[in-house]
Amino acid sequence: MTGTLYIIATPIGNLADISLRAIEILKKVDLIAAEDTRHSLVLLKHYGINTPCISLHKFNENKKSSYLIEELQQGKNIALISDAGTPLVSDPGFHLVKAVRDAGIPIITIPGPCAAIAALAASGLATDKFIFEGFLPVKKTAQCERLEELKNETRTIILYEAPHRLLQLVDNLLEIIGAERQIVIAKELTKIHETIIAAPIPEVKAWLLADPKRQLGEFVILIQGAIEQKDMTISADTRKVLAILLQELPTKKAVNITAKITNCDKRELYQLAISSLQNH
Ligand code: SAM
Repeated sequence: MTGTLYIIATPIGNLADISLRAIEILKKVDLIAAEDTRHSLVLLKHYGINTPCISLHKFNENKKSSYLIEELQQGKNIALISDAGTPLVSDPGFHLVKAVRDAGIPIITIPGPCAAIAALAASGLATDKFIFEGFLPVKKTAQCERLEELKNETRTIILYEAPHRLLQLVDNLLEIIGAERQIVIAKELTKIHETIIAAPIPEVKAWLLADPKRQLGEFVILIQGAIEQKDMTISADTRKVLAILLQELPTKKAVNITAKITNCDKRELYQLAISSLQNH
């Protein structure tokens, strides 16, 4: 009988954010493969989990995967955890999971925290369709090239970024995505200083610059999706007027006033208003 590999999500800050099932399995498996064993010790100690741990990080994943498969084939049950949140989401584990699946060994996933999903749920941006881009390339040229490719993406875009690169990312967003698009910065989720800021990019930048402490911590950055190309017969200026009025007035009134100011067709404006309210 082979063992089972359990993929277990752990907290992204608040130690209480772990499922009862996760604790139970972490206690009963033979081995825990952790991204950083010293880091995970805090969580494991907190819940009285004494299971032996080995490290599995991006530099030793291939080598350790072969060892873990041998252990699984000998009937051992193994849990995979990362430093925070869901393993494999911008974290190690992909090579292991692929190899274990290729070997025909059972894998069970124990869902739980994931910073991207937690941020999306609270962002106020469209949740019906979204894409996760994780960390963009670090170098400015490569990052800007990727942002150019994402510029017309209509789904909500979710990014991770390190604190010391956040301002550079916001600058690049301003340059490429533009000043009108709404972004959301979800900072220190589930921790004491949890803060979520939703505003056009220049306002978010000003907020970050107003107090350097605001640039510290862990961040998820979400970008409002672009308006569908099919709506593009309406000019950018008209869209701007409508968007501003929609923030202040009921839909019908905003549409009527926009039509008066811009001479645009009321029905087209109404459709645009409804689709942007649904999308965002
Ligand atoms: N596996 C994790 C998950 O499920 O979200 C992500 C790991 S990735 C190495 C770490 C990045 O996730 C951070 O740089 C930050 O962008 C984001 N992150 C993790 N915890 C966070 C939190 N509490 N608040 C905001 N962002 C967080």
